[in-house]
Amino acid sequence: MPSHADFLATPPQGIPSPHAAPRDVPPLKAPPLDASLAGHAPPGAAADPAVRPHPRQGEFGFTVGTRLCRPDGSPALGRTGTITTPHGRIRTPAFVTVGTKATVKTVLPESVRELGAQAVLANAYHLYLQPGADVLDEAGGLGAFMNWDGPTFTDSGGFQVMSLGSGFKKVIDMTAVETSGADDAVAPGKERLANVDEDGVWFKSHLNGDMHRFSPEISMGVQHRIGADIMFAFDELTTLHNSRSYQVESLERTRRWAERCIAEHFRLTDERAHKPYQALFGVIQGAQYRDLRRKACLDLGALPFDGFGIGGALEKENLGTIVGWCSAALPEDKPRHLLGISEPDDLFTAIENGADTFDCVSPTRVARNSAFYTPHGRFNLAGQRYKRDFTPLQEGCDCYTCANYTRAYIHHLYKAKEMLSHTLISIHNERFVVRMVDNAREAIGNGTFFELKERTLSAYYAGKPDPQGP
Ligand SMILES: [Zn+2]
Repeated sequence: MPSHADFLATPPQGIPSPHAAPRDVPPLKAPPLDASLAGHAPPGAAADPAVRPHPRQGEFGFTVGTRLCRPDGSPALGRTGTITTPHGRIRTPAFVTVGTKATVKTVLPESVRELGAQAVLANAYHLYLQPGADVLDEAGGLGAFMNWDGPTFTDSGGFQVMSLGSGFKKVIDMTAVETSGADDAVAPGKERLANVDEDGVWFKSHLNGDMHRFSPEISMGVQHRIGADIMFAFDELTTLHNSRSYQVESLERTRRWAERCIAEHFRLTDERAHKPYQALFGVIQGAQYRDLRRKACLDLGALPFDGFGIGGALEKENLGTIVGWCSAALPEDKPRHLLGISEPDDLFTAIENGADTFDCVSPTRVARNSAFYTPHGRFNLAGQRYKRDFTPLQEGCDCYTCANYTRAYIHHLYKAKEMLSHTLISIHNERFVVRMVDNAREAIGNGTFFELKERTLSAYYAGKPDPQGP
């Protein structure tokens, strides 16, 4: 078993300083870890934090609209708002579609626009590995490259570096939650493929096993070249398995990395003055600890970020509580993005507790396994009962799929392994989630949020059989 010390390995010998790293970082073959470097002062640790705002930050904006009130009239943390980017506005709360590799899987950009999505989030890790950030830069940025003219986000790559690299879901056993467990909880038979040190992370490409290096500076360089309107600071992802002492240590490292991200982001903003301004969000970690979440919010909230991401390991039952802690402690006038949710109950909980935007791969991921959303729950179109069901996926749905196709036809496509089934179900599922969040936004505006929440969730989780099934 690898030890805690392995996970906290010091930089392998010969790692270049991030400040000396070439602008286009080629795949690096990792030298062997050298235990004798323990205690070595990492390069970049003394980076000077740039705490003063950048003059170009005015090119990005957020205004708060209506604040959510509880039925008894007391204020809640939720709100409506508008994010302004160089590629357009996002009315919040908003569900952001995920286009991991610069495509919302199987869905044309025109359809993404038509189904009401306001923004697309791509992944820096994947685009760095393929086709390379320079290709996107040369194309005029992510939006121009993928023919999406609206606002775009990239996540920093930190999650993928640590999840695909070290296998957060695939390698680390997340089924059990121990607050005092080992910090190296790796599933039996698996190898940890990412090593965190003070300066950054070494990780193995999931594509070909090549070793790569990400650091705050490298992540900023990659995200600037990808060119999304909203970027995220490079942070360390911990799991619920990590001990509290490790969470404390990691949180401090994420804070130091946040300062380095801002310094490099502002430097690149000056260097690339001809490009549209790219906003930078800090990422709040701290796992399930109230004091750590609060500390992260105060530390990062004092830095000139344009907004914040609420990240890290969350248990579903604590989602609202933790988002609420963060919203209460973060600056009120900056947007908050919650990474990775799309279940109806999670969305309403997050909105109620002050999250403004969300993203999730689920609507298209489950679509490729023939699952579709309805107001009465999620169903699987592979079932034989749909073979002669000539109704739309959802009666009354205003999406392209429901206007033109039947369950029987899409069932047939899926059974025949025709890719159009993925496209048609993805369009419906994305529309379903986007519309649900749009309805929640409207309901905050007209004072009916809690009625909508009750009505929507009681229908969705009622456990009724498919009303249109046999
Ligand atoms: Zn539909």
